Amino acid sequence: MTTQYLKQKILKSLPANISAKELALVKKALSFAESAHQGQKRKTGEDFIHHPLRVALEISKMHLGTNSIVAAILHDVVEDCNVDLKQIKSEFNKEVAYLVQALTKVNALTYKEEIREKENFRNIILAMAKDIRVVLIKLADRLDNMKTIWALPPSKQRKKSLETLEIFAPLAYRLGISDIGAQLEDLAFPYVYPKEYKDVKQIIGKRREELENYLKQLAPYLRRQLKKHNLSPLTIKFRTKHLYSIWRKLKKEDMDISRIYDLVAMRIIMSNIGECYEALGIIHQLWKPVPGRFKDYIAIPKPNGYQSIHTTVFAKEGRIVEIQLRTKKMDEEAEWGIAAHWLYDAQKANPQQKKKLFQPTKRLYWLKQLQEWQKKFYTSQEFLDSLKIDFFKDRIFVLTPKGDVIDLPDGATPIDFAYQIHTEIGHQARGAKVNGKIVPLDYKLKSGEVVEILTQKGKLPSPSWLEFVKMIEVKRKIQDILRKKKKI
Ligand code: MN
Repeated sequence: MTTQYLKQKILKSLPANISAKELALVKKALSFAESAHQGQKRKTGEDFIHHPLRVALEISKMHLGTNSIVAAILHDVVEDCNVDLKQIKSEFNKEVAYLVQALTKVNALTYKEEIREKENFRNIILAMAKDIRVVLIKLADRLDNMKTIWALPPSKQRKKSLETLEIFAPLAYRLGISDIGAQLEDLAFPYVYPKEYKDVKQIIGKRREELENYLKQLAPYLRRQLKKHNLSPLTIKFRTKHLYSIWRKLKKEDMDISRIYDLVAMRIIMSNIGECYEALGIIHQLWKPVPGRFKDYIAIPKPNGYQSIHTTVFAKEGRIVEIQLRTKKMDEEAEWGIAAHWLYDAQKANPQQKKKLFQPTKRLYWLKQLQEWQKKFYTSQEFLDSLKIDFFKDRIFVLTPKGDVIDLPDGATPIDFAYQIHTEIGHQARGAKVNGKIVPLDYKLKSGEVVEILTQKGKLPSPSWLEFVKMIEVKRKIQDILRKKKKI
């Protein structure tokens, strides 16, 4: 791949309606970065400029606007070429300079060995809470670095790969960009768990290819059946499960590959939600569903916004296969994650648009919460701890009696739940019902449970709650009111 080729590819990837001014800005960034990195080489032996160009291409796919692409092209010039931020500000604009500066800061921390992982992690998160574009560029940067990690010495390979598995891949999933998350995991897997990687590859053998061929033959038959009911899928695709995720699942299934039904899944894209359910009904009439494996993420989306219906059926010849149904919009969102919620390139950037840019949708409530926490406890230990607990660990979703979904950390109690509904409900809680039965207030909630809080007007929280509530922010609220009322 030549520099010229990559530059052309970036220009081709730009939206057709890009303004002359913005196009000029991208072109200027291309020649600016090229001359700044002149003579520099990557460990792979290629010209350094290839790296930022590939990062910019990845960013261009996310449709985050011209400034993000320009910042991606320039992301290493301050760190590696002694280019001054002031110069970037005057040659380009304030926003580009801000993005490059933020990336340089995050990089400075990720690349210095002596910085503890936690620090590094914190800075990434804080950067994200301020401007998610920084983290998206950082993820694209890490993805490209992982693709060329073979060129690094073994000690660095392991360290970077571990960091990728522990921090960057979960971050990508949390932002709903599962494609990048999966790529990061598979690139890091062989360096962190070399033996397991080999084993998994051997266990899988040709199973994935075989299953994909089988599903491809099944698709036209299914299309005909749906057609009989006047349903035509927009697309039928095939999703191959990636190695790292197969390994995680194998560990849960006693390394028995025959128990993993979704090595390849058939993904059916319908025009609207109603058609998804209609098609599901027809599929279940055609092939019996495997009990306990049906998941409706359309009715109850995952915390990162993911929506689809998943079902597993006994298909032709009794083979067990997973089928996923979703609309085109859901499919795009699953692919582009948080970027799809921005709709940035739909309109030209203007101050109002910018405001919209940083407003996460309802389904990305956790991000909004993150921004609020960040404002409150900017550098405190508690903020870090709350992130560790609430951000990276698994989440559960429980329901209110009205059917609203509440997203909670694993291990949350009815008190944690009550405070998510309303602070007053939390303060005044005197009892809780789960699926209609009274439970103790320190009960550990499980996904799917319906939780109802019984309250008593004017009641105060009990100090004993502090011993079992899970969420740091809930603890804080309890402490605040008790302190105010001089109860502790
Ligand atoms: Mn870089």
